[in-house]
Amino acid sequence: MDTVMRLIVVGGVAGGATAAARARRLSENAEIIVFERGEHVSFANCGLPYYVGQEIAERESLLLETPESLHARYRLDVRARTEVLAIERAEHCVRARDLESGREYTERYDRLILSPGAAPIRPPLPGIEHPRIFSLRTVPDSDKIKAMVDGGARRAVVVGGGFIGLEMAENLRRRGLEVALVELLDQVMPPFDKEMVTPVHEELRGHGVALHLADAVAQFEDEQDGLTAVLKSGTRLPADLVVLSIGVRPETTLAAEAGLEIGPHGGIHVGDDMRTSDPDIYAVGDAVEVRDCVVGGTALIPLAGPANRQGRIAADRVFGRESEYHGTQGTSIVRVFGLTLALTGASEKTLTRVGHAHEKVYIHPMQHAGYYPGAERLTIKLLFSPADGKVLGAQIAGQEGVDKRIDVLATAIRAGMTVYDLEELELAYAPPFGSAKDPINMAGFVAANVLKGDVEIIHADALEQVEGELIDVRKPDEHSEGHIPGSRNIPVDDLRDRLDELPADKPLVVYCQIGLRGYVAARILTQRGYTVLNLSGGFNTYRGYFAEATRS
Ligand code: FAD
Repeated sequence: MDTVMRLIVVGGVAGGATAAARARRLSENAEIIVFERGEHVSFANCGLPYYVGQEIAERESLLLETPESLHARYRLDVRARTEVLAIERAEHCVRARDLESGREYTERYDRLILSPGAAPIRPPLPGIEHPRIFSLRTVPDSDKIKAMVDGGARRAVVVGGGFIGLEMAENLRRRGLEVALVELLDQVMPPFDKEMVTPVHEELRGHGVALHLADAVAQFEDEQDGLTAVLKSGTRLPADLVVLSIGVRPETTLAAEAGLEIGPHGGIHVGDDMRTSDPDIYAVGDAVEVRDCVVGGTALIPLAGPANRQGRIAADRVFGRESEYHGTQGTSIVRVFGLTLALTGASEKTLTRVGHAHEKVYIHPMQHAGYYPGAERLTIKLLFSPADGKVLGAQIAGQEGVDKRIDVLATAIRAGMTVYDLEELELAYAPPFGSAKDPINMAGFVAANVLKGDVEIIHADALEQVEGELIDVRKPDEHSEGHIPGSRNIPVDDLRDRLDELPADKPLVVYCQIGLRGYVAARILTQRGYTVLNLSGGFNTYRGYFAEATRS
């Protein structure tokens, strides 16, 4: 048996509960105390929106463990409703307050793991203290929102179009409320590139969510039986309740007051061993700054998977194991009504911001064999290094099959794979599940074609910069249903017979619906000496870029 270690964990949910349970599995005789300010430990934060929407019917389903169950299984001394007020580093003590009795006391530690999470941001707007304005972080938060909905609330304003905002918008609509969503940027889901969220905007509007993009709440006004969110644009949105979901800030008060190093983004600074600037104190989860494992540097990336893995690593380290955290790539996914949107690695905007060289392709393959019933298109954006083809990031929108493709690409990024590796991946195929050329292989083929010079591509946002002839190689009926202004329609199958209609003195920009016929056209014409650019992702991707701007 090892010497008796006294481990204190602050925060008893994702990172904290994982660290404490792992610690026990590594040491049967350590003393392990978990302090949790709230009344619940180890609850399913990520399930809260679905509880409000009644997709998760039973409140108990959210409570994964209790202090009693954690004691029974792991002999953890879990103290719920107990807040750690201060870390007295010189004495190796924490000062805690029992929030029920008000009693304050100190507990000694040999090692301390901090997993205090993040707090929802509440901007200092006039009227922000109104009792009908809620954030969603804890089970009691969800109880309050659900009680309003159960009590007959009809109109909700959701402020912030990130993951939680979208999940709440959907679940409140599911409960029959009128929902308005206000987002400061001109797109929802800020971590994604804008053209990739166009289908999300359409999905939200299609399900009756009133989208107010590029606008912000200026103030809240009290009304009889409700309140009004007054936007900067002057729009007034009357509501029975408001859900604020404009982001979170890391809970660093304890750490900062104890003099632990805080990183440039305002999170607790830790090394790859999850150790803070004090060698006896570790920190994990939403409160810490992580290394961005794609573009380098540190970032705040508050996600459940990283928090859980970091908790495990911190416990390993406390008990002498050499585990290391190798950074976060931000793999995440959200369902918005019938649509799924997922991301892994760096976005184009991040790569551009940090000056990291990149190329991109868009493809729109079916999620499984086109001839098998229920085939639906995916939109995949793949970002990769032009020098060596290394995969840097991916974003996918679609109905089914988004989750498995993003996870394959997340694994590829973690493994340092290139687009040439994607071409070679052998993925499970039968008609109901995929295609003999899986969308992941297709993304690899298309990207590799670009890198090998088999086809030159152009992106929708660069079309204006090319003085060329725009040729729509789709069928005439597709062309008449909608096309890029100024384009001439010559279907790909007619191209070889209508070469005399093409100018030989300027580049040809060819496009089709998704990029595939455009590629075939490009190959036909390139081999005849023309300079040809294929529009990556075709008209579908073009719409992603410009549908919002041309919306009437
Ligand atoms: P938490 O799990 O928040 O735990 C921190 C705990 O520390 C809190 O319970 C807090 O009360 C306690 N605490 C803080 N200070 C003290 C103190 N001084 N003394 C005692 N206790 C203290 N992530 C995903 O990856 N996918 C999702 O789908 C997803 N959905 C989400 C939906 C919602 C509504 C929310 C709120 C979050 C969601 N997340 C999701 C994020 C994910 O839940 C967090 O990244 C994760 O819980 C972070 O773990 P943590 O241990 O750092 O913090």
